[in-house]
Amino acid sequence: APPLLRIEGLSKHFFVKLGAFGQKSAEVHALDDFTLDIRRGETLSLVGESGCGKSTAGFTILQLYKPSRGRVVYEGVDLATLDEKALRPLRRKLQVVFQDPYSTLNPRMTVGEAVGEPLLYHQRATRVELSSKVEQLLGDVGLSPRFAMRYPHELSGGQRQRVVIARALACGPEFLVCDEAISALDVSVQAQIINLFQDLQERYGLTYLFIAHDLAVVRHISTRVAVMYLGRPAELAPKRSLFSTPLHPYTQALLSAVPEPDPARERTRRRMVLKGDVPSPLDPPSGCRFHTRCPLAIDICRAEVPAWREVLPDHAVACHRVGEAIPVPGA
Ligand code: SF4
Ligand code: MG
Repeated sequence: APPLLRIEGLSKHFFVKLGAFGQKSAEVHALDDFTLDIRRGETLSLVGESGCGKSTAGFTILQLYKPSRGRVVYEGVDLATLDEKALRPLRRKLQVVFQDPYSTLNPRMTVGEAVGEPLLYHQRATRVELSSKVEQLLGDVGLSPRFAMRYPHELSGGQRQRVVIARALACGPEFLVCDEAISALDVSVQAQIINLFQDLQERYGLTYLFIAHDLAVVRHISTRVAVMYLGRPAELAPKRSLFSTPLHPYTQALLSAVPEPDPARERTRRRMVLKGDVPSPLDPPSGCRFHTRCPLAIDICRAEVPAWREVLPDHAVACHRVGEAIPVPGA
């Protein structure tokens, strides 16, 4: 089946002013040459340290940022070929839920108004239909009808996030970007919202791009996982393959920091600690962007951008040394 979304060579660069008087400008390479298919009905997680371009990828895919290069093809339609008017009916199918529900909810609107607004705007619901539809959506996210009269400040963090999700559902989405959507919540509430996401995926046939830094959560929720480093994809694999056979040294380092649920394996877990910080995306390292922190870096890593190669079924990686210094089990 053709993918729901095809992302081809997508790049996003920002220009920023530098110097005390903003006298210099520089280019931030937030996202570079990102190619990826997102399959209908899957949960594709995007992981990496903060500042690696995960959110930029989400925003650029949704066309909330205009791509610097490359394209986003949604159900066969290149979104760049559409003007704002033609894009509008598609926009409602592509929704986003952020970490902080406060920033998305108008404090002066009741929950009923917030959830009802997209129904009036996108679905052309009549006033009569409205309250029963709002009630149904609130029920779908686990809130009773009496929440319709409440204001955001009267709700807990988890309840607010449920309202934001109901509001996104009111638009009739097919694709939902969850950008650290559970990161600000208490751990017990996180589990509830994750279950809600899974439940809604089935009921509404949703496809998720799940942006997160908590690998335990990612391990639970994903179909596939894409690891990003400094604006570029490092590795992409089905969840099981990524967690059992991480190939990119950066993925190996990220996973080595996650405690093993099995105590026997936890005792033998080898931690891999990366030296240094993530370099600035203002002046990313040449060749493989990870070379300044990679324990396996050699000359070619500094000189050449590693090619993206599928080395196991559905499991791709960008590293010069995979298959050589890094064995590929079963390949
Ligand atoms: Fe390390 Fe080289 Fe592979 Fe980059 S290409 S991850 S520097 S071994
Ligand atoms: Mg972010």
